[in-house]
Amino acid sequence: MPETQNAAKPNVILINCDDLGYGDLACYGSPVNKTPVLDRLAAEGIRFTDFYMASPVCSPSRGAMLTGCYPPRIGFGSFDGRWVLFPGQPVGLNPVETTIAALLHRAGYATQIVGKWHCGDQPEFLPTRHGFDAYYGLPYSNDMGRQNTGGRQSAGDTYPPLPLLRGEEVIQEQPDQASLTERYVEECVRFIRVNAARPFFLYLAHMYVHLPIYAPQRFLRESVNGPYGAAVACVDWAAGVILHELRRLGLEENTLVIFTSDNGSRDRGEGGSNAPLRGTKGTTWEGGQRVPCIMRWPGRIPAGGICRELVASMDFHPTLAALAGAAIPADRMIDGLDLTPLLFAGGQVSSPRHTFFYYRLNTLEAARHGRWKLHVRKADQAIAELYDLEADPGESVNLYDRQPEVVRELTALMDACRSDLGDEAAGVAGRNVRPIGRVDHPDTLTHYDPNHPYIEAMYDLKDRG
Ligand code: MG
Repeated sequence: MPETQNAAKPNVILINCDDLGYGDLACYGSPVNKTPVLDRLAAEGIRFTDFYMASPVCSPSRGAMLTGCYPPRIGFGSFDGRWVLFPGQPVGLNPVETTIAALLHRAGYATQIVGKWHCGDQPEFLPTRHGFDAYYGLPYSNDMGRQNTGGRQSAGDTYPPLPLLRGEEVIQEQPDQASLTERYVEECVRFIRVNAARPFFLYLAHMYVHLPIYAPQRFLRESVNGPYGAAVACVDWAAGVILHELRRLGLEENTLVIFTSDNGSRDRGEGGSNAPLRGTKGTTWEGGQRVPCIMRWPGRIPAGGICRELVASMDFHPTLAALAGAAIPADRMIDGLDLTPLLFAGGQVSSPRHTFFYYRLNTLEAARHGRWKLHVRKADQAIAELYDLEADPGESVNLYDRQPEVVRELTALMDACRSDLGDEAAGVAGRNVRPIGRVDHPDTLTHYDPNHPYIEAMYDLKDRG
């Protein structure tokens, strides 16, 4: 009976924001951004307080979430020495890796990504080669197009026009960013309608709130937090349209909705906040990697739970595989853990995850075990700091000298991680890492043509994220 099969396989909608900080939603304490839809989503599901992305920057965070692996495991610690992927690089997510989309596709799901991919822009690395039936969106960050940097010389001065893709085809160059989220939402609604009668996986990877921020007038008028608040409101609105459509089609009860962000806020005056956490995007302080996460599945996940257990984005992979009855490849290591018992208990039982490792590029900088977090490095500097994240989530009181037993225990865990995944600063190569995908003759997806009638030949905002 197809209907019984479908009932056993929930639809999955994964909404991932770009650079949305821990303190940017009202339900996470923002005093300025209004997020009524997401607040209600949290009230109807679980809100996680201790959820981590596997990297404080875009590409490794996304690759890790989609494959269930720490970035160095899949060669995503760095990209020929760079933090994230840039237009026309020869590297990307290895076609032999198995994404959530590939797992679910094999289990009979319709799969679509709408929005930012950022796991490689060469044909071999695009979403359509990684389990997605369809793709509509920007292949990388919205500041990697032609943008007036105000005379400041930067690598970005030579970026080709920002491409908008459908499938593997560039359908527009330099799109109007203020209207792009509306177009994304329209695409999501269409996908949900077309696939209402079969299990589907929709990955909406927002452009917001990455700089530069071009937001629709309506949200700018209503914002008390400038363009940033308007972008957050637009993300909230987008969730509202999608949830309304689920309800209208009677799909609410059979759809797991996950909302999160790829890394913390830059928090440098543009309106974003990681409060009450320390640090920003690009750092392994809590503010870089601990981000909002909400999950709702009416009837299966009890409503109103606040989960204070340690969980990570890499756990989505085996969790969604379990829910879909999909097989995880047995021939490789992954780092994700199955959260289904935790979800069905409303987040009120112990997480299977006890430890989390913080990588910056290919260097292991910190580890969390239970309530404790040990830092051994920040960028080029060795440090020795220990924090009790339960008592001190803002990492302000260094207990390193007062807790030698705890330091020893976390040091041993980090040593084991080093030999497994490597640690560049320590000169240790990982035993269980796999290569990044690489092509011989890379090209950019677009090339500037002075005769092309671009709607935005040059983005005028100077900010880059
Ligand atoms: Mg990001």
